[in-house]
Amino acid sequence: MPFRLLNQCTDCESIVDNVKNHDCPKDPMKDPVKRAAAKAWEAEFDRKTKVWDDWQEVNAPDIEYARPSVNSNPTYIAFQGKCVIFGLGGEFWDEDGEDFVTNVLNNPTWGDVLIEFEKAIHTIKDTHHRFLEGLYPVDIKDWPNVVRKAVSDPNVTVLRFSTGS
Ligand SMILES: [Zn+2]
Repeated sequence: MPFRLLNQCTDCESIVDNVKNHDCPKDPMKDPVKRAAAKAWEAEFDRKTKVWDDWQEVNAPDIEYARPSVNSNPTYIAFQGKCVIFGLGGEFWDEDGEDFVTNVLNNPTWGDVLIEFEKAIHTIKDTHHRFLEGLYPVDIKDWPNVVRKAVSDPNVTVLRFSTGS
């Protein structure tokens, strides 16, 4: 990385008053191909967001905190088969938060998972990590207290919420 002054544009390298707003001849967005690609990406993001908004309006209007990843789809299967999903309380912001484990779910969709995640947020009391990024399997031996009473069937996979803020 070459030495660069704070008010030097990274695209055209001129010294300018305002790096963010100057009329840059090398602004990548002046390239019509790149501009079209950015627009298409934005339109796709809006379309995916609307899919979730429409789904939520009908199926889960009471969701207060939980936010989906727009790259998932509320009607797609999130996990094939039987599973429980858990999250741990008291490890983030509010020490009164309790552990949360779902009932056994069968082929839950991402919409189903988001509804469970909303319940989890209320139980865990971590309203900061409200973005559901995915699910990941854990070894039940590592989490005996949380899942022991929820899972006696070895055919039930134990998953943990993967969250972001
Ligand atoms: Zn520039």
